[in-house]
Amino acid sequence: MEFTRQFPDDAACLEHLWRTRHAPDGEHADCPKCERERVFRCYKTKQGRQSWTCTGCGHHIHPTAGTIFAKSSTSLHLWFYGMYLMASTRCGVSAKQLERELGVSYRTAWRMLNKIRNELMKQDAEPLSGEVEVDETAGGGRIRASDSARGKQYVYAKMSRRPTIWGAVERGGRIKVKVVKSRGSADIEAPMFELVLPSSMIITDEWAGYDHTRVSARYLGHRRIRHEDKIYVQGDVHTQTIEGFFGLFKNGVRGTYHAISTKWLPSYLNEYAWRYNERESSRPMFQTLLENAAKS
Ligand SMILES: [Zn+2]
Repeated sequence: MEFTRQFPDDAACLEHLWRTRHAPDGEHADCPKCERERVFRCYKTKQGRQSWTCTGCGHHIHPTAGTIFAKSSTSLHLWFYGMYLMASTRCGVSAKQLERELGVSYRTAWRMLNKIRNELMKQDAEPLSGEVEVDETAGGGRIRASDSARGKQYVYAKMSRRPTIWGAVERGGRIKVKVVKSRGSADIEAPMFELVLPSSMIITDEWAGYDHTRVSARYLGHRRIRHEDKIYVQGDVHTQTIEGFFGLFKNGVRGTYHAISTKWLPSYLNEYAWRYNERESSRPMFQTLLENAAKS
């Protein structure tokens, strides 16, 4: 209801893009041809589409140009509604759900989801700092009882084929996640060195991949927690924040999408990280998506 009030139809969505991208007052915009501010009027083109035209030189501005909506045969109203649905659920929506809700084909729903996920839910570039928990987990596929029954070697082979999800999270702050090749030192330290500032206190489990000498030399400090001894929490030395995120991600994926292939893992992960980072924001997620859509 709230959505329909704000965006009753296609024209309202287009008007929104026009105002946020070009003309805050709906009338005055910079004309690239006249190279100055001009009054623009809205006309309907022969195809029934709205276009804004400079009253000085006749130059047209299409508010969707350069956005994810440009050249899409899906109506702007459906796009906006799709964004609204994605922003109003905690775990996201699947292409199947979107297909049903919007009445579009599965293929269209799938393409819309990917565009929104990859282009509007971007992780910011700002590196992490402060107390930062770093950890990794196997992504995609589960080890089932039937796998275990086939022996250790089989399980090991299956596990080693799974991609590794690497993650770092500021205590009480933002998260960065990435799909990396393996749990090996080079693969897990590289994103840490890139995405976490040297002034940070690094907290990891005792996995030797995070070389204590190298990590302590580079950072303010490196605290480790020994999981194998079942000492999960020693004062504030724990990695529960990042593990909590991994758990949330895996449960969410299982609940919403059942299973996802390695190919799409980065894009789902991206969506989850984005949601996590948005959670403290006072601005509704839909508003942020709208802003990002106007930027692109
Ligand atoms: Zn002009």
